Amino acid sequence: MMALRVFLLALAAFALTMTDVQARPRGLVEPALHILPGGPGHPRVALTFDACMGRTDHRILDALISGHIPATIFVTGRWLKKNRAAFEILLAHPDLFEIEDHGAMHVPAVDRPVKIYGIASAGSAEAVKKEVEGGRSAIEAAGGPHPLWFRGSTALYSLSAISQIRRLGFSVAGFSVNGDGGSLFSAALAEKTISRAKDGDVVISHINQPTHAAGAGVVKGILDLKARGYGFVKLDEVQPTGTDGTTGTLPVAKTAGHPSLPKKG
Ligand SMILES: [Zn+2]
Repeated sequence: MMALRVFLLALAAFALTMTDVQARPRGLVEPALHILPGGPGHPRVALTFDACMGRTDHRILDALISGHIPATIFVTGRWLKKNRAAFEILLAHPDLFEIEDHGAMHVPAVDRPVKIYGIASAGSAEAVKKEVEGGRSAIEAAGGPHPLWFRGSTALYSLSAISQIRRLGFSVAGFSVNGDGGSLFSAALAEKTISRAKDGDVVISHINQPTHAAGAGVVKGILDLKARGYGFVKLDEVQPTGTDGTTGTLPVAKTAGHPSLPKKG
């Protein structure tokens, strides 16, 4: 009986791996990113949030403000259009919020035509440029600062697109902890995942899904870290490890979770 259970668990794990392989085209990378650790007694993490499209999760935004917790928010031009009031709140708290570029239309920054989690990539170098620069100009047109970090939709890239994004003047913002599983985690899982972040981690979550259960857990996980003495830093405050804001080796993605789920936007 025990052997059967072990076999079934192994089979389930294999099925998950195969699903993931099918969903993620070959040759794409998911850059990792860490910040320099604060050291013993001074653990710190960088909280990053994607605002892909959709609305604003005020459970998270309000908790960050009331807890004086700094974070880096990646916004798209598409999100900006419908969330101007929330964007003004971000702008009104420059001490807390760093605003960075999540693209113009939330299409993956991959310069060849592929589908990623069912979403069509930008498809050409020209379209990648349009996505990256369109996000930047939308932020600036709305009164935001000049962004220096870019994170693309799905957080997957072709290597040539990463080089191109760097030439456009951006560091590519990876992460080390997938805090909310593309906003699809349960509240309990999001809380557990974020509260287990280690000194030097960069956490990705979503701030655009107010109706998803994950957001409540994201807040709890952050408050748990705070209660345990963690500090929070924005990406512009720290020297990221690795070159150009990503680890030098650009490891090929292995995780099954997926950090950004545009179709649920
Ligand atoms: Zn996104």
